[in-house]
Amino acid sequence: AFDVLVIGGGPAGASAAIYAARKGIRTGVAAERFGGQVLDTLAIENFISVPETEGPKLARALEEHVKHYEVDLMNLQRASALIPAKGEGELHEVKFESGASLKARTLILSTGARWREMNVSGEQEYRGRGVAYCPHCDGPLFKGKRVAVIGGGNSGVEAAIDLAGIVAQVTLIEFDDKLRADAVLQKKLASLPNVTVIKSALTTEVKGDGQKVNGLVYKDRTNDELRTLELEGIFVQIGLLPNSEWLKGVVELSPRGEIIVDAKGQTSVPGVFAAGDVTTVPYKQIVIAVGEGAKASLSAFDHLIRTT
Ligand code: FAD
Repeated sequence: AFDVLVIGGGPAGASAAIYAARKGIRTGVAAERFGGQVLDTLAIENFISVPETEGPKLARALEEHVKHYEVDLMNLQRASALIPAKGEGELHEVKFESGASLKARTLILSTGARWREMNVSGEQEYRGRGVAYCPHCDGPLFKGKRVAVIGGGNSGVEAAIDLAGIVAQVTLIEFDDKLRADAVLQKKLASLPNVTVIKSALTTEVKGDGQKVNGLVYKDRTNDELRTLELEGIFVQIGLLPNSEWLKGVVELSPRGEIIVDAKGQTSVPGVFAAGDVTTVPYKQIVIAVGEGAKASLSAFDHLIRTT
């Protein structure tokens, strides 16, 4: 059995594995796709001390760093169930879709999250070429350009306010006939001269020139007419879904499905820790996931020395 078994191989999982292995304890990582969301990212300019890199390159560096240590790396393994230890000193078990199962004294859950997509034509084709999901990450790439933000909840309105300070023009598109964001955010949004809000609008298509985004088509839901906006960027802000479905009913989750953790990364199950985008820790970023992974790992080590 492992002393520490990490489920998920994104920045949080990689960091957790390295911190555990450096304690000389038996460490494993099982991941559906080692590298995680980083693999889907083009330019990364906010991983501190690395002014500029690309997702696949950073993912390779994470893997190399993990392989520097004695870590059992199991890629292409999707966890489907967690059976917690029956008592102190007993083992937790994780079952995988492949039929395999692994046991460990402590677990670190770092299965990340995925952005909810619009599922309209052009979205996949222009992902990373005008279609973006993270304003903190990609906002500066659209300096002086025209962008749309899809979604009028808190994250959409926050994104629009943030982007208004960088880009030339922001159009916020909301499906409903009203915004759902907090009143204070809506007030701030309304005060910005370069933001337009379009309500009762359903985005139906992302348009491009084969290379980059150049427009967006939406249906005006009040009269079913199609309209086109010319722009260079589209930020989709209709929800971030934590990859925690397999933990429902076992580990305590927030109403949004995030694993609830305390300041040490401890979940509701003793000996089970969590880190990164799958948790309640706010601001989903690589540098934060890496820090949280290290923290959860140190907490797991602390748990091990107290319970055995
Ligand atoms: P993830 O990276 O999501 O990794 C999760 C891991 O768990 C993966 O290995 C996955 O395969 C695995 N997994 C999921 N479910 C299971 C399961 N059931 N069983 C086993 N394994 C499972 N952040 C920045 O700081 N800067 C940026 O420039 C930036 N740009 C981004 C651009 C895009 C397009 C996207 C999508 C995100 C971007 N982010 C950026 C956010 C950043 O990628 C995430 O915050 C970070 O990757 C979170 O790390 P994580 O380890 O928590 O989760």
